[in-house]
Amino acid sequence: MPSKTNNNRYKKTIEVPKKSKETALLSKVRGLKDVLPDEYKYWDLVNRKLNDLAKIYNFQRTELPLLEYQSLYDKAAGKNSVLVTEELALMQTKTGEKVALRPDVLPGLVRSLLEHGLLNLGGIVKSFWTGPVVVYDAAQGGRARQFTQASFDLLGNFGASGDVQLILMAYHFFEELQLEVEVQVNSVGCQECHQAYLKELNEAWKERGRKAKLCNDCKKAVLKNPLAVFACRETACIEVAAELPPAVDHLCDGCRKHFERVLEFLDNLSIPYALNTKLFELRGYDFWSKTIFEIVPLGETRRHTALASGGNYAGLIDILGAKIGAASGIVIDVERTISRIRSHNITVGGSEKIDIFIAQLAESAKQKCMTLFEELRRAGFKVREHFICDNLKGQLDEAEKVNARFTLILGQKELMDDTILLRDMESGVQETIDMRKLVNELDRRLNIG
Ligand SMILES: [Zn+2]
Ligand SMILES: [Zn+2]
Repeated sequence: MPSKTNNNRYKKTIEVPKKSKETALLSKVRGLKDVLPDEYKYWDLVNRKLNDLAKIYNFQRTELPLLEYQSLYDKAAGKNSVLVTEELALMQTKTGEKVALRPDVLPGLVRSLLEHGLLNLGGIVKSFWTGPVVVYDAAQGGRARQFTQASFDLLGNFGASGDVQLILMAYHFFEELQLEVEVQVNSVGCQECHQAYLKELNEAWKERGRKAKLCNDCKKAVLKNPLAVFACRETACIEVAAELPPAVDHLCDGCRKHFERVLEFLDNLSIPYALNTKLFELRGYDFWSKTIFEIVPLGETRRHTALASGGNYAGLIDILGAKIGAASGIVIDVERTISRIRSHNITVGGSEKIDIFIAQLAESAKQKCMTLFEELRRAGFKVREHFICDNLKGQLDEAEKVNARFTLILGQKELMDDTILLRDMESGVQETIDMRKLVNELDRRLNIG
């Protein structure tokens, strides 16, 4: 086993200092995570699928800075929100500016679109973004935790089909990754229906004995926010929440029609969904309107397990001082998706077949091999090498590891004769080939060209 041998050798020659306060320089920051090559194949798969989605549906890639002014999040989530008071990783620059590591893509994305006037161009903006976000997790003792989000966003003038397209894309994304998921949808209406619903809920809370059944946290919380009970996982609170009138019963005509249209589309597209009347808040914001949705693993009932979440956020654009017909987006949680793929032992595509591995037997042959590598690569062959290794065994081990069909071996003798050794990696048979006929020989044997 070549890789094992290499690891042992590495361990013998490099001494890693034992962990202590002095060697904190060899500890990653608490709560953060390295992705090592073994795990990276899953990242590669998910990233490829995300990029494919963006291409197929014509979403344009955006890059955004890691830092935004704190004031952006104060505006987007509210100064007293949990997102701002507990989850924001804040810092002050030397000139006294308060900036924050983005805890979510949405505020920065909208800031960028508005700053560059991209929403004034007419038409519909279709944006794709993926990258890390950082949140302080109160439940984890205030650790900073880094996550990766992938966000697909539609902004402009469109109707129910926008929500449906985002749900459809994400649903098929998970389906292609062989993950069984369920779409959960709710409609929280527009400002007008939201106010009407809050009024109705406040009335419902006045009903005798109802509030008394709640857990202590909820008893206090519903005084400020009558919706708070919907997020609670206490059995008593779940029972009380079930008796409350659902928001979908209090939609204005426009919002009701919009929602009916979304559900009709989902039915016709055979996307299984469940109405989740407890879904009001996503990712710490309450600016959502009309349809909001989550994609959760099928049969999962715990909180914070959504693989994707999204909805309409024209309200956020309003908060930031602009107007737009519609804005709808979905964010895929990349780490949760990868952890799901791994826990389900889903195989990640077979390893790539390599045509030719080039090995060298002497310093003088190395340079020729490097030139040959570039020639064959340009001629369209899938070529690999391990030139920094000077023994043949190490190079042949590597050729096996990368799954090469043939290995070319160039030594001093071949260099003098203008020939090269061709080794069939399946049979182990080696023969000498005239260098001038090499490309033709390789073409013939690999049946290409
Ligand atoms: Zn409405
Ligand atoms: Zn409760």
